[in-house]
Amino acid sequence: MIVLVSNIGSTSFKFRLYDMNGERELARGGAERIGSDNAAVKVGDKAWTGGLADHGEAIDHCLRLLPDPNVKIDAIGFKAVHGGAISGAVRVTEEVIRTMTEFFDIAPAHNPPYVAAMKAFAARLPKVPQVAAFETAFHQTIPASRTTYGVPWEWTQAGVRRYGFHGASHRYIAVRSAELLGCKDLRVISCHVGGSSSICAIEGGKSVANSFATTPQSGLIHNNRVGDFDPYALLKVLPAFELTFEQALQEMAKKGGLLGISGVSNDHRDVEQAAAQGNERAKLALDVLVESVRHYVGAYLAVLNGADLIVFTGGIGENSAAFREAVCARMDYAGIKLDLLKNKTRGKEETISADDSRVRIMVIPTNEELIVARQTQDVLAGGN
Ligand code: AMP
Repeated sequence: MIVLVSNIGSTSFKFRLYDMNGERELARGGAERIGSDNAAVKVGDKAWTGGLADHGEAIDHCLRLLPDPNVKIDAIGFKAVHGGAISGAVRVTEEVIRTMTEFFDIAPAHNPPYVAAMKAFAARLPKVPQVAAFETAFHQTIPASRTTYGVPWEWTQAGVRRYGFHGASHRYIAVRSAELLGCKDLRVISCHVGGSSSICAIEGGKSVANSFATTPQSGLIHNNRVGDFDPYALLKVLPAFELTFEQALQEMAKKGGLLGISGVSNDHRDVEQAAAQGNERAKLALDVLVESVRHYVGAYLAVLNGADLIVFTGGIGENSAAFREAVCARMDYAGIKLDLLKNKTRGKEETISADDSRVRIMVIPTNEELIVARQTQDVLAGGN
């Protein structure tokens, strides 16, 4: 089965094409700056630049630049974000699209471009089945004691709860760490830190806690999104800055996180550079990110009664040695000791803990697309 996996952002489209016979990657690529006159499309070593009006045009160019443009695609899998009560991996139907549309308000950066891409693919490849693998799926095993808010019970019944996201990435880390350590019964703290960031506690291959809550705006601070925040602070914000409630939510989802604190950039590399040049707000932004990660690592040591393995993944987790060093500092009480030399690695599978560390620490590059491809194949094989 040939599966195309789509990963969609508001102005980007990324894909990987797999032959599931042997899980061979046939192609990867995508488009950036969709909606502008200088969009860039890259598939393997073929590139194109020019104006792209929407995701549909981006998909056209990507299909055209495939190594074999006539390849027969059997299924399209989407790393979809929020389907409310619809979770797991499911065939994309009118009902799925309707439910995702109902959640536009609380996943504004994610659900609208996914629905647009699903419709664009359906217009171009109407016979090819689509599967949505929701980011919430892996977290369905989190007990209610960690998903329930202290709100009026009617709100809970209406679906106001912690869901958890980044499910494909944390599931990959669960599967891959069990393979690498040759043991399924592991307590893993998976730290996915990148443009979006979350920490997951994994016990015996199952998610038992995740730092994301009702929306992907929560938990750790993100590139330009707020993370955990007391909603009552808005009582102060709205009059002071003459914002409506909706405008304040927009600001928290676009001008918060690393960008908001540093005032420099939403990109960790830029913030690291500014901090190295003495920019105090940039230093503070890096420190806030580190502290938010340490907060959840500490919490999940309690959830798991210790840990066998801490994994760093995501763009920052895989690449920034300084970030990992700061997160692991002063954790020897919990048996967590980094080897500073081994920690200099970037972007590849590697153990970076000291030989006498009780907890193993690893960098494992994530592969969310492979998880979605497997889920897509499973859904179609099951005839769902
Ligand atoms: P992701 O969303 O997982 O692709 O991660 C994107 C984030 O990873 C951005 O903030 C990048 O600045 C960050 N990143 C990528 N490479 C590096 C690096 N070498 N050092 C520090 N941060 C990096």
